[in-house]
Amino acid sequence: MNPSQRGAAVPKGAEPLPSRLASVRAELAAGGIDALLVTSAANTRYLTGFSGSNSLLVVSHDRAVLLTDFRYRTQASTEVASVVEVEIEGTSLWTRLWSVLRGLSGAKQLAFESTHLLHSDYQRLTDAGARWSWRPTSGIVEALRQRKDPTELAHIRRSVAVAESALAQTLPEIRAGVTELEVGARLEAALREHGSKAHPFETIIASGERAALPHARCSARELKSGDLLIVDFGATTAGYCSDITRTFVVGRASDQQRDAYDIVREANASASAGVRAGMRGRDADAIARDYIERQGLGPEFGHSLGHGIGLEVHEAPRLSKTSDAVLTAGAVVTIEPGIYREGWGGVRIEDDVFLGPDGPEVLTTFPRGLMELGAA
Ligand code: ZN
Ligand code: ZN
Repeated sequence: MNPSQRGAAVPKGAEPLPSRLASVRAELAAGGIDALLVTSAANTRYLTGFSGSNSLLVVSHDRAVLLTDFRYRTQASTEVASVVEVEIEGTSLWTRLWSVLRGLSGAKQLAFESTHLLHSDYQRLTDAGARWSWRPTSGIVEALRQRKDPTELAHIRRSVAVAESALAQTLPEIRAGVTELEVGARLEAALREHGSKAHPFETIIASGERAALPHARCSARELKSGDLLIVDFGATTAGYCSDITRTFVVGRASDQQRDAYDIVREANASASAGVRAGMRGRDADAIARDYIERQGLGPEFGHSLGHGIGLEVHEAPRLSKTSDAVLTAGAVVTIEPGIYREGWGGVRIEDDVFLGPDGPEVLTTFPRGLMELGAA
């Protein structure tokens, strides 16, 4: 243990960390791996509690060592669980890494996270780290992260509540003549006011024909009466994200807009009610996709149904046409069917759903009926 760590208060919520490390160690042992080098910030946070942006984490069968730099000295001492040793490095984390590895008795076969390592850093492993044998791995920690424990679920619930409060506060200000950027600014300010620590992704405000772009960023376009308006955003609480989409009409909705909206709403409702732990991702996706296809709009639903959320806004599992992955009990996933027509606009409704032992629980409570904003 690093002296600066001795006597440090164990942060709230740190209790699950030893069991997470134990799960990683079981995976390593099963694969004949002596130690894992963790370079993903989210995986590091999950295993240690550390939320800084610059670190290397080594997990062996009997030690967990976090290397970070001077900027994070105080933060590491308050955040990192006592089961993890912290080393503060003043020059190069990589140089320090070799000395940590030399201190691991008998470590020969090491693994790295192939989806979280720059090629230039991989070259360090094969050059300066050539005395060890390095094996690529992926998804060891991500697989564990799918199943949320009660503390994690509480953080996600809080993130959903923060996001919904911020949206409710913003809606009265949305009317024709306001720009997408102004809507985004008001919403993001409201997110902060309600306690969101960070925006988990770039807020999407897409109006009029721009609503046909599923991932449109805010633009200087002014809202016009009769526009569809897609708002896709989230909050972050204690590192955990929410991810919500609602679609509105500025002014009065046309029959064509109502028809499209009703189809997406039904697809969202049936998938949210039908998704289950134990189901394959592709079967969950099919609940919504089959319904939209039966309405003759299959080609207009060009993206996946959803994704896991947690410490990251996009994490396992995937709910897509091609995903054979089985949905883990305890995961929180998004259900976000949409339809998009070039030159006309689009509709998407996205909810966050907990895959509980007794079936799905929709965490999002914001109304799903079509709302006409700023209508005279
Ligand atoms: Zn979203
Ligand atoms: Zn999403």
